[in-house]
Amino acid sequence: MGRIYESISDLVGRTPLLHIKQYEKKYDLKASIYAKLEYYNPNQSSKDRIATSMIDDAEKNGKIKPGDTILEMTSGNTGIGVAAVAASRGYKSKIYLEDDVSEERFQSIRAFGGEALRFGEDPIIGEALRESGNNFVYAIQKYKDEVLSKTNDVHFLDQDHNLANPRIHELTTGPEIWEDTEGDIDILVAGIGTGGTISGSGKYLKEKKKDIHLVAVQPGLDSRKNLEHPDVEGIVGIHALDALPEERIPLSMNMDIVDEFVNVETQDAKIAAREIAKTDGILVGLSSGAALHAAKIIANKPKNKGKNIVVVLPDSGLRYLSTDLFED
Ligand code: PMP
Repeated sequence: MGRIYESISDLVGRTPLLHIKQYEKKYDLKASIYAKLEYYNPNQSSKDRIATSMIDDAEKNGKIKPGDTILEMTSGNTGIGVAAVAASRGYKSKIYLEDDVSEERFQSIRAFGGEALRFGEDPIIGEALRESGNNFVYAIQKYKDEVLSKTNDVHFLDQDHNLANPRIHELTTGPEIWEDTEGDIDILVAGIGTGGTISGSGKYLKEKKKDIHLVAVQPGLDSRKNLEHPDVEGIVGIHALDALPEERIPLSMNMDIVDEFVNVETQDAKIAAREIAKTDGILVGLSSGAALHAAKIIANKPKNKGKNIVVVLPDSGLRYLSTDLFED
């Protein structure tokens, strides 16, 4: 009947590309920038794509049954997407969040009936973190061994190592960008957390046009999240991966596909998020600001004059109103 959707999962994707003309004008940019507005997803971030695809994949492979608990560890957006999709399909959700994420993320997950807690609040993970000096890999392994291996009712999605993550970007984000630009794209800019966005959409786009330049955005050295110095500010959701040893790189990340890494400081990311709100009227989050700042630097290079840049803006600024993001 008409254009009626039957589930929030059917509302995921097909997000618009906005030509951010006023931002270009303000900085006198030499290239065109098209912003992919991922806050058009049903729960306002690109992570709605992977929440749906990882749960679809678990269902298809018989890994979850009605009433089970779906577990995820996240900087927030994935948890919100997972809690929403879980609610809509009759699963429980339990989400572990990093300490420094905004309060809105906890509130959203709880609104969907999910359980939201900080890593340190779990007795096993908390103790493992303390005894290992904040070694997350060790703490999560301990949790898998001591908790997950002993239950059949809890399913850990594990976005960092779940190939349904990059796959959905290859199947949706990449093709959307290709179709909406009619193939007239030269450069793709995206932040890296799990690496799913850039690896999946980048794979599709490079198969279509092999010389598309892929730029991965990560936090700069002095804004790099440092667990030994928790007072150092990071950029929520994005992580520096080029300095990690091979065994620590998420499976969802394909390092070989990236042509260029750009480091962005937190302060520059904030300025970009504030600016785009004022120039083009779009409210985006901190990692979007980081991606936008990187896109601006690239658009300013003389060699990129006249080129078309697509920048992925992963979430909404509404999710940051309790932080100082827009307080300039
Ligand atoms: N921005 C935000 C706000 C995020 O939460 C994340 C992922 N945690 C990213 C960017 C990075 O996306 P991806 O995981 O696909 O690399």
